[in-house]
Amino acid sequence: MTLETKTLDLLPQAVEILESGFNDLPDFTPAVELDSMRKVLNEVALLMKDNYPYHHPYYIGQMMKPPHPIARLAYMLSLWINPNNHALDGGRASSAMEKEAVVQIAGMFGWDSCLGHLCSGGTMANLEALWISRCLKPNEKILASQQAHYTHSRICGVLNIPFESIPVDGRARMKVSAIKDALDRGNVGTIVVTVGTTATGSLDPLPEILELQKTYGFRIHADSAYGGYFVLANNLSPESRSVYDTLGEVDSIVIDPHKHGLQPYGCGCVIFKDPSVGIFYKHDSPYTYFTSSELHLGEISLECSRPGSSAVALWATQQLLPMVKGGAFAGSLENCRKAALDFFDRINSDPRFLTGLRPELDIIVWTMNAGMASEASRLTDAVFEAAALANLHLAKANLPRDLFEEYWDNLVWDQDYVTCLRSVLMKQDSLDWMDKIWDTLSRTVDKVLS
Ligand SMILES: *Cc1c(COP(=O)(O)O)cnc(C)c1O
Repeated sequence: MTLETKTLDLLPQAVEILESGFNDLPDFTPAVELDSMRKVLNEVALLMKDNYPYHHPYYIGQMMKPPHPIARLAYMLSLWINPNNHALDGGRASSAMEKEAVVQIAGMFGWDSCLGHLCSGGTMANLEALWISRCLKPNEKILASQQAHYTHSRICGVLNIPFESIPVDGRARMKVSAIKDALDRGNVGTIVVTVGTTATGSLDPLPEILELQKTYGFRIHADSAYGGYFVLANNLSPESRSVYDTLGEVDSIVIDPHKHGLQPYGCGCVIFKDPSVGIFYKHDSPYTYFTSSELHLGEISLECSRPGSSAVALWATQQLLPMVKGGAFAGSLENCRKAALDFFDRINSDPRFLTGLRPELDIIVWTMNAGMASEASRLTDAVFEAAALANLHLAKANLPRDLFEEYWDNLVWDQDYVTCLRSVLMKQDSLDWMDKIWDTLSRTVDKVLS
């Protein structure tokens, strides 16, 4: 394969336009040593060959999606300025772009006024959301799914908030009965609803949790770091749709533009429905420059220096591909789900495999059909290795017995987990490549079994 480089041709003209903004300054061009830089850069290129091919449709392992070329270019272009979105003094244009980009994200969930900003990723975004929960509900517990991202229990450790994890049903969703039990035991301040779990892409039952909220009055934080953008997709199951249709009713939402939003890493987002939570961020810094009475993004975020380039890249991507229902971006998410369903159907009707959970979004997990959980796990390891040798890159996940017990009558559970193959079909081209992917997987499995 070749790397896409045609789009690099667009860069020089854009740099010239940017440069013309500074024409009235005395002439100054920093000196560069091309020869020594070439040597180092080529060495970097050599070293970077040691990577999985995340950008190729044959990489269907972890949650890795290549940034859109427009994001790559806008990010690069902005580095000639290297804005810092901590304060308006650090980047006027990129701060304005961040505010616009966040408004568009909030718009996906039907929020027209909210407080929000970009940050380094889902971890930081969730940290801020749970910190605000603690400010509003000090000493009260946070509940999250056993299948929630592990970051939540760690964040609660950092913030010193009591944390309780809630068991899941056969579709990896929090059990409503277990939530109710925890609520009856009392002192629950916030429930974290995962909308798209990282392991299986499952959706916690938000409509039922909103019902419970009427009685018990807790806060709801939605962690949709991975799954948030699927709010735009038109081909979800009715049950999934009902989760997304109620997402706007929660108190805070996390979404990662660097997961499904076509951005380079370093781009997460947190939004709060009630802008007045901004008071908790209040600080009185002698360092921050105050050339404007307008709100500084640094006044509403916990991180100080932040890459304005992330905002520039996201803004540019949203200009090209508006994050709206029925648009090209929504269409590409719909294709991801189609690819996952196609893959699931093939796996499900093949006696060499065992699968259960039908994908809600674009993640599938399955294991090898064997007599015992340990043997299925061993074969899974072997298929994982052999597929990689055939250039097909999958991921693995050790998943608990309770997730699969109801699907697999014949598997003997000689251990309480099973190693599964896991595949995230999040690429633009995943759907078109399904036949080739299946072919390679199928041949690999035959080899392992023979
Ligand atoms: C990825 C993910 C996180 C962590 O986000 P980072 O961007 O990796 O810091 C949190 N929650 C969920 C549901 C995720 O998928």
